[in-house]
Amino acid sequence: MSQLLDGHKAAEKIYQEIEETLLRIAHRKPPTLATVLTTDNPASHSYVSRKVLACKKHGFRSEQHRIVPKDDKELLTLIDELNKDDEIDGILVQLPLPPHIDEQKILEHIAPEKDVDGFHPLNAGRTLIDDKDAFCPCTPIGIHSLLQANNISIEGKHVVIIGRSHIVGRPLASLFLQNRPECNATVTVCHRHTRNLKELTLQADILIAAIGRPHFITKDMVREGSVVVDVGINRIEDKNTKSGFRVVGDVDFENVKDKCYAISPVPGGVGPMTIASLLQNTLKSFLRRRKL
Ligand code: NAD
Repeated sequence: MSQLLDGHKAAEKIYQEIEETLLRIAHRKPPTLATVLTTDNPASHSYVSRKVLACKKHGFRSEQHRIVPKDDKELLTLIDELNKDDEIDGILVQLPLPPHIDEQKILEHIAPEKDVDGFHPLNAGRTLIDDKDAFCPCTPIGIHSLLQANNISIEGKHVVIIGRSHIVGRPLASLFLQNRPECNATVTVCHRHTRNLKELTLQADILIAAIGRPHFITKDMVREGSVVVDVGINRIEDKNTKSGFRVVGDVDFENVKDKCYAISPVPGGVGPMTIASLLQNTLKSFLRRRKL
């Protein structure tokens, strides 16, 4: 069995570091994250609840906004208020937004210095030009931290990413390409139009799957001794569970696990790291805004 990239364990280490910093500044009001939920989508509800819970557990304040916006203007007004509110360090607008709302317009309205999700074009651009102080989206940072926590260096390695979304694949490529010793990877990004996908995945020292298709990465696509990071979260039917479904990743874990050097599980791999990175980004904003 290969090394398991345990996201809970790595996240715990991050929370410890965060709590040590908070102890140092315990005389101050805690960092505050504002969450904005705009739909009844159960997955979005569950994601926001987990983020709010993590805030509570680790000494952050959270402010939850539930709004069913009739138009862009209503949501832009709320974001204006949060941008101006000195108590708010981070603003998280849970995606996806309702179809009648212009997502890009909303994300661009968040003050870049409070953009702890890292989706503002200014932060995306800064990440692309090697600015390690820019807010990078939480899942890519979480993947980077998960590898670091397991002493897996990416410098000089060929990292093959499958998926080019603005949330995972693209910012991950920008981050891993950065010119600094903790990064410096050689990156190939694949997507649904990529030809000969297997030829590319077999060249990967580190293979990262962010596709959203259950068990898409099969054993024959993975190079012996490589590292496999599974970002996917997919619900599949399972009559043996109480809920009638279970969550699996994009990788056929059971068959791939013995072929690679290390692999992240789903659940319990990248997921917990994403939330820990959100708190890290919120703390970063808090310290920076208060010049601490
Ligand atoms: P997305 O749908 O926006 O992007 C999927 C990407 O996969 C696209 O770029 C597409 O081109 C590519 N793709 C689809 N079919 C392909 C194929 N046959 N061959 C090659 N590429 C293909 O999804 P996303 O938002 O990036 O999320 C991807 C997965 O990661 C989802 O399962 C999502 O739930 C999960 N996710 C997990 C976390 C976490 O914290 N663990 C965070 C974000 C997303």
